[in-house]
Amino acid sequence: MDNPSPKQQIKALLEELMEEGEQYLPYKIKSSPLKNFHQPQQELDLLYQQVKNCQSCKLAATRKNLVFGEGNANANLVMVGEAPGADEDATGKPFVGRAGKLLTDIITKGMELSRDEIFICNVLKCRPPLNRDPEKDEIDACMGILQKQLEIINPKVICTLGRFSAFVLLGKGKKLGDYRGKVHFYRNIPVVVTYHPSALLRNPNLKRPTWDDVKIILRIMSGDDPNQIGYW
Ligand code: SF4
Repeated sequence: MDNPSPKQQIKALLEELMEEGEQYLPYKIKSSPLKNFHQPQQELDLLYQQVKNCQSCKLAATRKNLVFGEGNANANLVMVGEAPGADEDATGKPFVGRAGKLLTDIITKGMELSRDEIFICNVLKCRPPLNRDPEKDEIDACMGILQKQLEIINPKVICTLGRFSAFVLLGKGKKLGDYRGKVHFYRNIPVVVTYHPSALLRNPNLKRPTWDDVKIILRIMSGDDPNQIGYW
């Protein structure tokens, strides 16, 4: 029989890894087998297979569904929230409740994009009971998944929604005011910090400053140098 072609070898390797991925733990995530053939959608699919049954922290015991995140693997923009709520836990999809509808409006009406064009996820992939704040051991256990998602997608800009995801990615302070109004960087990717849609539902006055943040995101996506944007 002829030697397998490089394409056949890669396919065989992927199939093997997909089977192994069933027992994978997120903190053991290895670098992608496709590193030299960067194919974001396949790599995200593989990552999902690796973590879909994750038991690495206590939230596995109470979740209904793991909420991996959804959207475009080649997205220029990744939005990162805190953790799934009740609606997300029930459906396995990120940002689908009232806050999700508002976020969809920001994306479609404010940015004139569709949810399919960007990628939306949370720091934690499983719901903390009663929507309590994520705990340090849960963040430590789960962070590897988000890091890998960002490495695979490598967007032009990350938008963190609320103080929690800003703190986890940037670690500069605990209040939203410690971050807003300036472009930050996570592993050389520009980060714009804005309000969580839940905060906008509680306080509509925050829509105006959120729009200011959206305009900065759009500028970066359209090619403006984030280092030249300064403060707003
Ligand atoms: S929150 Fe993250 S680390 Fe914990 S079980 Fe879910 S996927 Fe695993």
